[in-house]
Parts: sequence; C-alpha cells; structure tokens
Amino acid sequence: MADRRSQGIAGRIPASLTDRGIAPEAIQDPAVPSRAAAGTPDTAPLVRVRCRDESDVLAAITACAGLGVPISVLGGGYSPGALGEAAGTVCLDLAGLDRIEVDPEARTVTVGGGVTAGALDRALDGTGFALNLPVPSRIGVAGAALSGGVGVLLRRLGFIGDRIVAARLVDGTGTVRQVDERRDPELLRALRGGGGNFGAVTELTLAPAPIRDFHVVQLAFAADHAAEGLSLVLDLAAGAGDDLTAVAFVRALPPLPGLDPALVGGAGVLALLVHAGEAGVAERDLGPATLHPRAAAVVAGRLTPLQLRERLEPAFPFERFGAHFRSGFADRLGDGDIEAFVDAAAPLPGPHSAFEIVPLGGAVRRGEGCAPGRDAAFMINVMGLWVEPEEAAATREWAAGLDRVLAAVRRDEARVPGFVSRDEAGSGNAGLGDAAYAAGDGPALPILRELKNRHDPHRLFTTALTFTTDQEHA
Ligand SMILES: Cc1cc2nc3c(=O)[nH]c(=O)nc-3n(C[C@H](O)[C@H](O)[C@H](O)COP(=O)(O)OP(=O)(O)OC[C@H]3O[C@@H](n4cnc5c(N)ncnc54)[C@H](O)[C@@H]3O)c2cc1C
Repeated sequence: MADRRSQGIAGRIPASLTDRGIAPEAIQDPAVPSRAAAGTPDTAPLVRVRCRDESDVLAAITACAGLGVPISVLGGGYSPGALGEAAGTVCLDLAGLDRIEVDPEARTVTVGGGVTAGALDRALDGTGFALNLPVPSRIGVAGAALSGGVGVLLRRLGFIGDRIVAARLVDGTGTVRQVDERRDPELLRALRGGGGNFGAVTELTLAPAPIRDFHVVQLAFAADHAAEGLSLVLDLAAGAGDDLTAVAFVRALPPLPGLDPALVGGAGVLALLVHAGEAGVAERDLGPATLHPRAAAVVAGRLTPLQLRERLEPAFPFERFGAHFRSGFADRLGDGDIEAFVDAAAPLPGPHSAFEIVPLGGAVRRGEGCAPGRDAAFMINVMGLWVEPEEAAATREWAAGLDRVLAAVRRDEARVPGFVSRDEAGSGNAGLGDAAYAAGDGPALPILRELKNRHDPHRLFTTALTFTTDQEHA
C-alpha cells in the first residue's frame, strides 16, 4: 500500500507529467486493473502512464527523476513477480510501443518495447525467419530478452537476449541511448540478460535465423511413467546436436490425438521436442523417441513457429493470474533426483501449475550476455500458477516442496531472472540479483554495478531483479 509520503507525491505526479507534454488521458487510474500478472491491490502503482511513443517515455522518466519517484516498466505484464508494475512507483505501460519492422536484407527485426511474443511470431510468419520466443503469446519480447529468455529454439539460437543486436534505451538520467556493438558494447551485453536495470527499452533490434519450420514431437506419459518421460528428454538432449531443443513438463496432460481421455487433465509428463535441422538429421535425432514403449501418446509433425505457438497456447488461457515460482540451474541430475522431483511435482495443486526441466547447452553456452546459468546443464522451473485465489495456499506449499528438492541440486544461489517471484525480487532483495549475476558469464558484477550507477544514478529502476550498487555493496 502507498504510504503517506508516496500519497503526497502521487498528487503532484499528474501535474508534473502533463507539464512535460503527456496527454491527461494517458495518465491512468492505478486502481483500474491492468493486464499485469498477479495484479492485486498491493501491486497498484501510484499512477500508470500509457506511453504512446518514446517521447512519452522520456517525458515520464524526466518527471520521475525530478520528483524522485521510482519507476516500473510494464511490457507484456507476464512476469511471475508482477515486476512490470509495483506499489509506490510510476508505472510506464509500454503496450502502445507496438511497432514491428522486419528487414529481410539486414536479417533483423526491430520491435517496440511493448511488442508481445505472439505478435512477433505473427509478423515473422511467412518471412522464412524465426526467433527463439517464449511460449505464452502475451509475454513481452523485451521483458523476456532483457531477462535472458528461453523458447523453442533455445539450443539453436541461445537465450532470447543473445539475439539483441541493438536497443534504444531511455536511461535513468533521462537520456536516450542508441546501444549497439559499435557505440556501447558493454551496455549491449548488459542488456542481454541484465533485466530492466538501466532504464526503459523503447526499441529492440534482434537477429532472427533463416528457419521456416520445425520437426516437432510431443510425447505424453502417464503419472506412473513420469520419471521415464523426464529421463527420455534428458537423454535425447545429451545425445543430439544444437538443432534439438527439448523440454519436459510435469503438468496436467492436455487432450492430444491418441491419448486416452481418462488421462486428460491428470498429472503426467509432457515432452516437447523441437528440431530445427534437416529432415534426415531430425529423423535420426527424434526417431527413437517416437517409438518409446511407455509413451501414452506421440504426436509428430512439421510445423511453422506460428503453428507450434497455436498448438501450445491453450496451456496459458489466462490473462491475469497469481504466481509463486521457484527456479535454478543444475549441472547433474541423477535417477534419484528425477524420482524426487516427480514425487513432489505429481500431486499438482491445480490445473495450471507445472514443473519444467530444460536441458541447456548448444548455442546457450556460446552466447554473449550476462544471463546467468549459461554453462549449466539444466534450467529448472517450478511454476506455481493459479487463477482462483483459493488455490493460492496449496500452490505455494507445492512450490515450497519442490524448492526443497531443487535446493539439493541447485547451483549456488542463482535464479532464472525471468522466473523470479514477488517474494524473491524487488528493491528489498537486491542481493538475489547479486547472487544471480555473480554466477553469470557476461560482464562481471562490478561492471554491471558500474553501468547501473552510470545509467540509473537515482535508483529509479529498482523493481526488477537487481543488484546492489557499489555504495550498497561497500
Ligand atoms: C506462465 C508463464 C510462462 C512463462 N514462460 C516463459 C517462456 O516460455 N520463456 C521465457 O523466456 N519466459 C517465460 N516466462 C517468464 C517471462 O518471460 C518473464 O517473466 C518476462 O520478464 C516477462 O516479461 P513481460 O514484459 O511479459 O512482463 P512484465 O511484468 O511487464 O516485465 C517483466 C520485467 O521486465 C521489465 N521490462 C519489460 N519490458 C521492458 C522494457 N521495454 N524496458 C525495460 N524493462 C522492461 C519490467 O520492468 C519487469 O522488470 C513465463 C512466465 C509465466 C508467468
């Protein structure tokens, strides 16, 4: 809840914003729910500004710097920590920055700071180019890329942020920066995974790869063969090249062709195998999986990125949800670990929660940026999700149980930045960012701190997974 000081400031904000040229109708009542994840009254900002373009972003940041009011930046509104809007902040809603420009000659695509993954896949459809994008369509491309980001081309293209080749950033000093390899290579690498720590990104230019379609295999395993399903994904990924991205979920099984209807909705393992290589290589890498004797259903086909998105989208039917996530990286998972994860995950707390193991490697290892976990073997995500508030307590308990199993295999304190929950992130928990980025391979933490001091000297941007400044660290 806003305290008395922030209520006093709140009264002055609209005048300060309109003085700087922001239209009064762009200044929104914070009590009106936004599209933000887990949007609850305690995330309501002081005001929300619907930015129409970069000049609105610049005007708002300059006004906030003058008043000393912290800022949150709302992209897709899909972070489990609802980091895009926070109590006590002026929230800059970037949904209006929705321009997408594909340049086939330069092999780049430039997106506004509020463009979503679904909109970008639709724009790329038929161009012959693809990017590694998150599965839920509502996720902001900038929000995902700035946090690292994973998608169905992970091992072929690396973390989503690794494909950033340029950005326009309005930083905390109220300066518009054009960031690219020539002008500011250090800040470019920091944006590839360093989160919204340095300002608001109004535009991102990404490098898609020439990929028209994928070979896709989905396998479902009933609960009593869940461990075999998880092991299959781990073994396949270990034996295949970079063209194969494999992900395994313990979750409620969706309806799939050939799946016994009695298993639909019950806990099981869903394995998703996406191969971006030649037909012959795909057949060699995927063939054995399609013959797995314990699989309850196998669906194989060739799909464009947009067709795959449409197939997976029903897993995320909600716009607003509550979330309690836990995440980390692991180097080794033995049979005992897999069994322990299955035992803790299979009693699902509701229809939306899922436990996910993502084998890394491939292009992830070679990318340049500061997203942590690059050289780990696995990313593990415990995704506690609910739509009905009465499911919240059981979901938190479920996630806590899995977190105890995760603690036994988790590498140091690093979390997956995009999967950080409300109780783990924010200005009160900056040390979490320190732990995460100290473990990364990109610019070292002292460089990130120096960039933070340079670009956000008033600490306006503090709601992301952030790190302590040099002064705080000392
Ligand atoms: C159910 C679920 C499934 C998910 N699946 C995936 C997945 O498949 N792959 C994946 O990579 N991630 C996934 N995520 C995580 C998600 O991508 C990250 O949390 C991401 O940061 C969300 O970005 P957003 O813009 O949608 O959210 P927001 O809450 O709007 O923003 C998240 C953070 O990014 C910052 N930010 C957003 N846009 C900008 C900008 N233009 N400039 C500066 N800062 C900005 C915000 O300030 C905030 O700190 C999933 C999350 C959920 C809840």
